[in-house]
Amino acid sequence: MGPTLTFLGTGGSFGVPLIGCRCGSCTSVDPRDQRLRASVLLQWDQTRILIDAGPDFRQQALRSGIMGLEEVWLTHGHADHTNGIDDLRVFCFGGRVLPVRGSATTLQEATTRFRYAFRSEPDPSGVSHPLLLPKPLPESFEVSGRKVIPLPVHHGPFSVTGFRIGELVYLTDVSEIPASTFDLMEGTRILILSALREEPHPTHLTFDQAIAIGQKIGAEQVWFTHFAHGLTHSQMEARFPPSIRPAYDGLVVEFT
Ligand SMILES: [Zn+2]
Ligand SMILES: [Zn+2]
Ligand SMILES: [Zn+2]
Repeated sequence: MGPTLTFLGTGGSFGVPLIGCRCGSCTSVDPRDQRLRASVLLQWDQTRILIDAGPDFRQQALRSGIMGLEEVWLTHGHADHTNGIDDLRVFCFGGRVLPVRGSATTLQEATTRFRYAFRSEPDPSGVSHPLLLPKPLPESFEVSGRKVIPLPVHHGPFSVTGFRIGELVYLTDVSEIPASTFDLMEGTRILILSALREEPHPTHLTFDQAIAIGQKIGAEQVWFTHFAHGLTHSQMEARFPPSIRPAYDGLVVEFT
């Protein structure tokens, strides 16, 4: 098998079902309507990369059988993408230091909120904590022979980093893609893009906005993710054009 992307979570910040809600998607018995917070695992050769460590990370790691990680990349500092950072400590046993990449702003937020986790030496008290090494994001970098291009996008007033690995692009928590980033996405064959819901939102693309971007990019495969509750998976399949499909937790996409 070539390189793969596994969707560990495809839910918005609340996850689906939403606590206390009895709507159609929240009471659905379709397993694809159980959406943990948005995160993906990339794997090629012996390299495993986690994009975002949200509050459901422990459950996602157990469910997908993640045995180790070589790197963590953060799209931004919001709680639904970083509140699982503490659970990364299992991958730091024996004094192993795990690199965490993100934009300067994202690393600033993460290292402020999880100051105890960003250190390279175990605490002398013996208390358990992650050993994380913040690594800045250059314009492009290489991991295990593959070129990675960070993609800056807007998320309302916040900045988010998407990632391009070869022909694959992962973009979550998007409200707008600047023209310079569209240029970096030229030739994308597999696009993963966040599409929150039908109604307008100040920091997220609506379904219609995301569909317009998906069609503009013209990728062979377009998968939407980071969904709010409201529509069920099968309702979304009917709602989106045939060229655009809703992702679901556990879905594995192969790329080259
Ligand atoms: Zn989010
Ligand atoms: Zn609901
Ligand atoms: Zn966000």
